[in-house]
Amino acid sequence: MNIAANIESIRQRIALAAASASRNAEDITLVAVTKTVDALCAKEVLNSGVTNLGENRVQVFLDKYEALGSEPTWHLIGHLQTNKVKYIVGKVQLIHSVDSLHLAEEISKKAEAMGLCQDILVQFNISGEESKSGAGADEAKALFEKLSCLKGINIRGLMTMAPLGASETETRSVFEGLRLLSDQIAKEGYENVSMNHLSMGMSGDFEAAIREGATLVRIGNALFK
Ligand SMILES: *Cc1c(COP(=O)(O)O)cnc(C)c1O
Repeated sequence: MNIAANIESIRQRIALAAASASRNAEDITLVAVTKTVDALCAKEVLNSGVTNLGENRVQVFLDKYEALGSEPTWHLIGHLQTNKVKYIVGKVQLIHSVDSLHLAEEISKKAEAMGLCQDILVQFNISGEESKSGAGADEAKALFEKLSCLKGINIRGLMTMAPLGASETETRSVFEGLRLLSDQIAKEGYENVSMNHLSMGMSGDFEAAIREGATLVRIGNALFK
């Protein structure tokens, strides 16, 4: 496995997809998902110039955090249980996977107690697939009205995942759905909400996500093969 070469090739594909969507490649951040590799490999990713690392499990994140500290910009991208919030607030820069009011309230509470404001994304389940977590698009307005009252969080955008094995058309319509939802939320002008980020696209579908406006692509497999 040649991590530096894989990163270079992904960077080129990001640049091509950006160009074909008339977008600036600098507006797209590569988040290297290191969940399947050890801290040494993650260090190699850092050394190759990718500073944003994503983990999907709290314990695995904490192990890597112990090894690498706050040198990387850390992203928590996987389902988060309320009772684990206390371990990560203030350590990760962005929590992508906030899928309920209850979870957001807990993050806000813990952040306030530490005297900080935690950046988060709200995860939506655009496809309606049952196995995926995420809020339903139809709940967005009611949810954001409540989220906008929480003082310990800053909502920086939205996150979604396309269903596994979906066709290209389906995948694109999921990503388009998230973009439209983000535009709709931005119009409401909620206080602690800035719709700066769309976290969508993984190894198999990041080019489609970039065409639909992704600003954060979460890539694992393609870097570590
Ligand atoms: C594992 C994971 C990714 C990366 O997926 P790859 O197919 O390995 O690129 C992205 N997002 C989330 C939420 C993940 O759990």
